[in-house]
Amino acid sequence: MTYHPHIPDGSNATIHSAVSATGTPVYGETYRIPARCGVAVIAKDGDLLNINNPSGYQVCDFWAFRLNNLNEYLSMSHSRTHLGKLIPELGDTLVSNLRSNMVTLESSDTPISHDTLIAACDHHRYQQLGVHAYHDNCTDNLRMATQAIGQKIPLVPDPFNLWMNVPISPSNTVSFEPPVSSENSRVLLRIHGDCLLVMSACPQDITPVNGEGKNPSHLEFSISN
Ligand SMILES: [Zn+2]
Repeated sequence: MTYHPHIPDGSNATIHSAVSATGTPVYGETYRIPARCGVAVIAKDGDLLNINNPSGYQVCDFWAFRLNNLNEYLSMSHSRTHLGKLIPELGDTLVSNLRSNMVTLESSDTPISHDTLIAACDHHRYQQLGVHAYHDNCTDNLRMATQAIGQKIPLVPDPFNLWMNVPISPSNTVSFEPPVSSENSRVLLRIHGDCLLVMSACPQDITPVNGEGKNPSHLEFSISN
């Protein structure tokens, strides 16, 4: 079977959740990312992306692509190399696969809980977790959110997993734990260069990454300059 990175394995309301036909936002307007869905938005150089986590326990998978060249994208492995650390801290700038600046973590009230190691959930992950029917997933949310604004991504990069709590043990194992953030926790990201940004309110309800209740919830965001 031929693999096409931009074609979803299934569908949900993400395909109808675009901020506009082109993904251009109204500055200062608060947009909702419905639970289990994703949204794509275009940001300009120097813009500030403000993501709000109303429940405090909802993971946000985050991607950034260079708008004029989608083959350049925010890269977790290049960012870990650049920073010399596994989890970015306040003031740190994450970079692209071409090692140029993409986003700076300007503010976060839970700086220790973000994750750069874990792949986005996808159809195959849920099948392996024992789900038989189609399950909403972050990979498809990325595909549908970009499709909804007329963009075609050339690959599915590893996401920057905001609020995702995956501690690393002294023996180098990882575990999937509930978020440690509180209600209305915010993350502010400064955008470098014109970018296509995608956020997915992770629909994971098999492991407790979205809280002990395994009940995915919505997120909100706004763009300002
Ligand atoms: Zn997910």
